Amino acid sequence: MGKVYLIGAGPGDEELLTLKALRIIKEADVILYDKLVNINILNYAKDEAKLIFCGKEAGKHYKSQEEINELIIKYAKEGYVVARLKGGDPYVFGRGGEEAIRLFEEKIDFEVVPGVTSAISALNYSGIPATFRGISQAIHIFTAKSEGKLNIDYEVVAKLEGTLVFLMGLGEIENITNKLIEFGMNKGTPCAVIENATISRQRVCVGELCNISNRVKEQMIGTPAIFVVGDVVNFREKLNWYENKPLFGKRICITRPKKQAVNLKNKILSFGGEVLELPSIRIQRLDGSIDGYIDRISSYDYIIFTSVNGVEIFFDELINMEFDIRKIKAKVYAIGEKTKDELKKRGIIAKCGVQFTQEGIFEEIKKEVKSRDKILIPRAKGARNFLVEALKNIGAEVDEIYLYESVLEKKRKDIECDIYIFTSTSTVRNFISLYGKEVLKGKRIIAIGPITADELRKEGLNAEIPKEYTIDGILNILVGGC
Ligand code: SAH
Repeated sequence: MGKVYLIGAGPGDEELLTLKALRIIKEADVILYDKLVNINILNYAKDEAKLIFCGKEAGKHYKSQEEINELIIKYAKEGYVVARLKGGDPYVFGRGGEEAIRLFEEKIDFEVVPGVTSAISALNYSGIPATFRGISQAIHIFTAKSEGKLNIDYEVVAKLEGTLVFLMGLGEIENITNKLIEFGMNKGTPCAVIENATISRQRVCVGELCNISNRVKEQMIGTPAIFVVGDVVNFREKLNWYENKPLFGKRICITRPKKQAVNLKNKILSFGGEVLELPSIRIQRLDGSIDGYIDRISSYDYIIFTSVNGVEIFFDELINMEFDIRKIKAKVYAIGEKTKDELKKRGIIAKCGVQFTQEGIFEEIKKEVKSRDKILIPRAKGARNFLVEALKNIGAEVDEIYLYESVLEKKRKDIECDIYIFTSTSTVRNFISLYGKEVLKGKRIIAIGPITADELRKEGLNAEIPKEYTIDGILNILVGGC
């Protein structure tokens, strides 16, 4: 028997995931996720995990609650660790209770991991405290829709003190406000409707009980949305910390293998942007690639590392073989600051070109390379050949080790963004072979450097290039002097 975790994945901002949820997601064999779950969260799953979408998709059959329950049970009975990811908290109008009951009936071991519910976090991200001393001493959370009959006694609700929060209520606002006014609530009570809370597409429509319903229509507010009623809404003018961030409102696509995207991603998130992290390629190590070169490593005059991955894999292999790195006598060159830093971590101080490209490193190294010098370039299979050819042309003996290969990731849905960032030619090629170039037309594109921009230009796409060809350079374009 496997085990099932019903997990609250939070309201949208992926950083509102709990540490416990994250640990289980990393371990899970099967992940069933809903529409409101931020898909970046899936990037934390194991490479071999099975990912199953359970939300509605236009024109496709979507899974009924019963079908979802059956799938969870099936995988658990096959012995898998199943993570069932639900938006917000699983037990707040998420039908998590029903799923848990089924597991209990089937005698399947389960745990429920609470999540940050939209019912409270949507208010926070809109500058609205759910309660406030002396102003709101209670928070009441309702669903405005139910499969069966909805039992809300508006006569009672209209008299409640505190903050009222309605989920699934967008289509019901007119009805709710009419009822509340009918039973005596002040027409001028402040209200807000929050669409797509906690992500870059968040929109907040503010009004009063008597006009909010019209304003929502005028502003064409859509789902998912939360309706809030109460004096705490007035705090929005002062407490709106989220929408004032420099990158708020921007959904930015970064296309990198998971690990290296982290730095850029975290910075964008801290500036309030939403990140769509599309792993267009995955790094696949080519095991045993170094074996044939191990006896020769001490004879090279130069070793040129072209990427962080190259450094990592090269030294991992040497460590596995218990190779003593003091035998390496070569001068070491690195393309790019990141690669140089990765070498520094291992006690090796490498030289770097002024430009972080193969051409840049060639300009630098050709000043000292002599004919017949032996050069080793550990790198990715399928990378550009410029450096190897240029070095051979000046008479050097060049060996390449293909340490890894970039392989295409599976396609993701909903990849519409405001800005697309590319950090290498291979991510450009992979993105286009996965998604085509139409999605990029008319969009703001940033390339890390001229070579990546050229790759885009070949496809008829224009990209901006930072002054400095680094992640910080890209951030400078995004947030100017911030
Ligand atoms: N379990 C979820 C709620 C599921 S019911 C939770 O705890 O948040 C689905 C409803 O939640 C939607 O109709 C909407 O009212 C609300 N909702 C969920 N995420 C939202 C978001 N990011 N922005 C606005 N409303 C959201």
